[in-house]
Parts: sequence; C-alpha cells; structure tokens
Amino acid sequence: MSAKRDYYEVLGVSKNSTPDEIKSQYRKLALKFHPDKNKSPDATEHFKEISEAYAVLSDSEKRKLYDTYGHAGVDGKYSTDDIFQGSRANFEDVFGGTGGFDSIFESIFGRGGGFRFGGFDFGGSGRARGSDLMYETELTLEETLKGKHEEIDLPRLINCDTCNGSGCSPGTSMRTCSVCNGHGQTRTSRSSGFSTFVTVQPCNTCRGQGKIIERPCSKCKGVGKQKTTRKFPFEIPPGVEDGEYRIQGEGESILNGVSGDLIVKIRVRPHDKFKRDGADIFYDAHISMIDATLGKAIMAETLEGVEKFDVESGSQPNTIIKLKGKGLPRQSGRGRGDEYVRLVIDIPTKIDKHQRKLLEELGDSFDRSK
Ligand SMILES: [Zn+2]
Ligand SMILES: [Zn+2]
Repeated sequence: MSAKRDYYEVLGVSKNSTPDEIKSQYRKLALKFHPDKNKSPDATEHFKEISEAYAVLSDSEKRKLYDTYGHAGVDGKYSTDDIFQGSRANFEDVFGGTGGFDSIFESIFGRGGGFRFGGFDFGGSGRARGSDLMYETELTLEETLKGKHEEIDLPRLINCDTCNGSGCSPGTSMRTCSVCNGHGQTRTSRSSGFSTFVTVQPCNTCRGQGKIIERPCSKCKGVGKQKTTRKFPFEIPPGVEDGEYRIQGEGESILNGVSGDLIVKIRVRPHDKFKRDGADIFYDAHISMIDATLGKAIMAETLEGVEKFDVESGSQPNTIIKLKGKGLPRQSGRGRGDEYVRLVIDIPTKIDKHQRKLLEELGDSFDRSK
C-alpha cells in the first residue's frame, strides 16, 4: 500500500479542529463519496480513506496518539478493525443508527457483498460472518410485467427462551474472567529504542467476552440463542431478468458477527410465443400469402391480450412491425420496451385440383402483365 496521507489533510480540517467541526466535515465528505451514491471508481477507496481518518480523529484517545506519534502510533496499537469498531458510536452519530454503520462497513470491507474489495488486505481479523442463504424463484414472462410480491420464511436466531439469552443455567450467572479482569483482551508490550509496541489480543480464557459462564444453559449449551423462522416479504421489481440479486444482511445471523446475505435467484420461464431481449419482446405472426398480397387487419398477441394491426398489401416475408410500448418495463424504471411482430408468410403445402387451377390462372395473368 502506498504511504498513508495525513488524516487532517484527508478530511480537510486543521489540527486544532473541534470534534464537532471534524464530525460535520466528515458528514459532508461521506455524503459526497458514499459508494451507494458516487459511482466513480475511486469513490469506495476515497470513502474508506476519509472514514478511517474520521474513525481515528473522532476518538480522543486515538487522536492524541496520532498527534503525538503519527500513523505508526495508531497502527502499532490498533488493528484497522479496532479503529473502526472502537469509533462505532461516532459513525452512528453521523449516519444514524446501527444499520447505517453495519451496511456501510460491511459493504466497504466486502463482508456483505455489494462492493467487494478487490485485493484489499484488511489486516486479518474481521468479524465472523453468517452464511449466505439462497432462495430460488421462477416467474412467468407475464408476471414480470407487474413484478411480484413474495414472502418467504428465513431462519433467525432469537434469545434462548430458557436462559433469556444469558447462556447461563437458570439461577446462575456469569463471573468475570480472572485472566483479563473482564477486559476481554490481553496486552503485551515490547520496547525497542524509544518506541513501545503494544500487542493486544483477545483473551483465550474467555474468548474475548470478559466473562465466563460457569454452568451453561442446558437448552442452548451456553450460546444464549435458539433458531426460529421469520417472515421476509420482498418485491421482485417489474421487468426483472434472470440473475442473482443480493439482499444484504438478510442471510443467516450468527453470534457476535455480521449476518450473511440473502441471495434471490430469479429465473424467468421461457415463453412459448414470445422471445425476449431485455425489455423488448419478439413475436411471429403467421399470415397466408393471399393476405400478405392483398393486405389485411390481423390480430397479434401481446402480453396483455391481442392487438389488432394492419398488414399492408404487398407485405414481404420477415417484415417487422413494431408495436410501441408493448414490451416489458425497463429496469431503469423508465417506460416500456416494444413488441416486434415478424410476418411469417405461410405457403400452402396441400392444394386441391381447383385451387391449383386458380393459382395457375393467377400465374398466367402475372406472366401476361410483365
Ligand atoms: Zn439458553
Ligand atoms: Zn478473559
């Protein structure tokens, strides 16, 4: 990675800025570079940079460390994950609520799909993530006209009803871990010249929880959760095409981690009359050579019933007639595609004597008129 820029410079604030000034400046930049809004290729990288700067400068302890020792001071003591998680409340202050924090950071750091962070090394660690869930559904072409409402049952973790989520056998409680004194972390420091390197690690004894369950609940084995299901309604938008659609954070939830994603796999069933290309549909209308020659009003099928249109006299095989706006809704949400009707001219394969005679006479008259 290239050299890190100065955090104050990244946010465009002075070293003497107040916490409020830093917050309002970050809010302004975050709105501008949020990867959901800003589609330029650098936006995500830039958003990450300003967010890291804000994570450090919004935390008085880390800011002091940065002012004194620069990047080395902060990076030597905290992992990138610690930097962000530690300033969680400061982000929630800007984005409002935990949902904002989770969705932004899961998307940025590639734990929740959406924008994946190609090749970005996030310094190991990272919170555990639940599995993605896959749901497959099929629609008819007609159904894609209006879109479709679906409701599915998804697995969900709720607090265990025996221990109310504590994980402790009823009547007992947790005790503070004596190894880390409830901090959940152990620190070791090492001096080298003028610098002190501090390594912080999760406590092995209590697995970073700071507390230990002495008698685990027999139902949930101390996990504190049980599985159930929940209804999850969602809308399949009009004009949808085959593909996988990722709904962030609606996958399997796990303890002390982020939820996986729900992946909805959509298949639009092939239609026996229409072919499709994006929002446009294609239909073959069969007419007799007589009708093609003389012209006739015929009926063409559309997704919403039949539509009458005129075949001009002298129409040639494979003539395409466009029925404007009779296609599918465009996924951009703007208008509908068109239906293209192709004229297929049927040549009779069986004719009787009388018909043969008439056609021969017709042939003669064409010869004469040449
Ligand atoms: Zn329990
Ligand atoms: Zn411990």
